[in-house]
Amino acid sequence: MAPQPVPPDDPLVAEILETVRRLHLDERYRDLDRNPRFPREEFRAMGESGLLGLRTAREFGGRGLPLPRVGVALFHLARASGTAFAKLSLQPEFSSVLVEHGSRELIDAWFRPMVRGERLVGNHLTEPGAGSDAAAIESTAERSGAGYVLRGTKSEAAFAADADAAIVYASVGGKSPGAGITAFLVPQDLPGVQRSPGVGDLGERWQRRGSVVYDGVRVPASYRIGEEGMGFRYVLSELTRERALLAAIYLGVGWASWEDTVRYVGERRAFGRPLSDQEAVAFPLVEDAARLEAAWMYVAKTLEHLESGAVADGEAAMSKWMATDTALSAIDHAIQFHGGRGYSQSLPHEQRWRDVRSGRIAHGPAEIMHVVAARQIWPRPAARP
Ligand SMILES: Cc1cc2nc3c(=O)[nH]c(=O)nc-3n(C[C@H](O)[C@H](O)[C@H](O)COP(=O)(O)OP(=O)(O)OC[C@H]3O[C@@H](n4cnc5c(N)ncnc54)[C@H](O)[C@@H]3O)c2cc1C
Repeated sequence: MAPQPVPPDDPLVAEILETVRRLHLDERYRDLDRNPRFPREEFRAMGESGLLGLRTAREFGGRGLPLPRVGVALFHLARASGTAFAKLSLQPEFSSVLVEHGSRELIDAWFRPMVRGERLVGNHLTEPGAGSDAAAIESTAERSGAGYVLRGTKSEAAFAADADAAIVYASVGGKSPGAGITAFLVPQDLPGVQRSPGVGDLGERWQRRGSVVYDGVRVPASYRIGEEGMGFRYVLSELTRERALLAAIYLGVGWASWEDTVRYVGERRAFGRPLSDQEAVAFPLVEDAARLEAAWMYVAKTLEHLESGAVADGEAAMSKWMATDTALSAIDHAIQFHGGRGYSQSLPHEQRWRDVRSGRIAHGPAEIMHVVAARQIWPRPAARP
């Protein structure tokens, strides 16, 4: 049951596991929860070790791996060291709008340094009044002289106080939802950028989410990413890939908890025999094994579809939903079957549960993942052939 998604002697997997060991990413993952901070030093070391920009084309400093291989790499990175460093590994992918549509100057100044782990670029889409319904954002970019003036408030943003720059979405005169939304690269030290870290989160505490107010920030036209009015379309296609890759991360973490628990219940004795002899303990773990593997196969298939250029928005959405729920169930069983210690911070399961729980909200809530999948099955009238 629950065989490895790829043999452990796969060279990419072996390299990832070696890097996790060398950089002590497992222990550092636990420390990031206790002492929340952006791990700048580790980010740099990840860049030097080739863990950033796994999918990024070689010409931009990445490794140019196809999506299914990136999924395998992230799964194993997460399995060995939790969500944090696997998500950091995806940071260039979270900014692929920049490398796909930005000017050469912007790519050289911001994207390449991010792949080297030298600069962090965040993403500012969500606003206090527009999260799931991202097309309803109210931030504006008014043309002014040789550039734009940005006004608006972004909320829920990871790295609110730590990012060196952010890709900010604002509307340039659009009338209908989504129309006019344009992407800008905004260095966070420009006059008028006001950053506030949040009050603290359930999990993923190292992301230090918070708000950023853009109060009349002057942005040169050369900092616009791509065409005016195309920002929403750009970010939607980026989100599809992100969701499928995040699914691989969540499954890796769920898998780690499942493996720990299988070992533990085989050794721990109660009522004169191992816990694994109790069907009430064994059966949920058997079900988790089947669910984890089925979810992995679905995610792997989705990544192959995306790599082939197929439209797979619905599959990517359901990948994230299924992977998150499957992993949460496996981690919850880990907490349960480790008994009192399972509920404590002496074991990693409670942290893993809190971190993976973000997957039901971030990058599109679970309910919206269903909306996206439903639209693929029943296209809206305007989109029907
Ligand atoms: C850990 C984390 C990191 C994040 N990082 C960033 C970031 O870096 N940058 C950024 O811009 N944002 C970020 N976000 C914000 C995230 O994208 C939003 O929180 C998310 O899109 C939901 O938006 P909202 O919070 O406004 O909730 P709402 O849109 O108000 O939704 C609340 C609930 O209502 C449900 N709902 C809404 N509409 C419907 C519908 N039509 N049908 C059914 N249910 C519906 C939702 O599914 C959700 O459960 C992050 C969030 C988290 C948790």
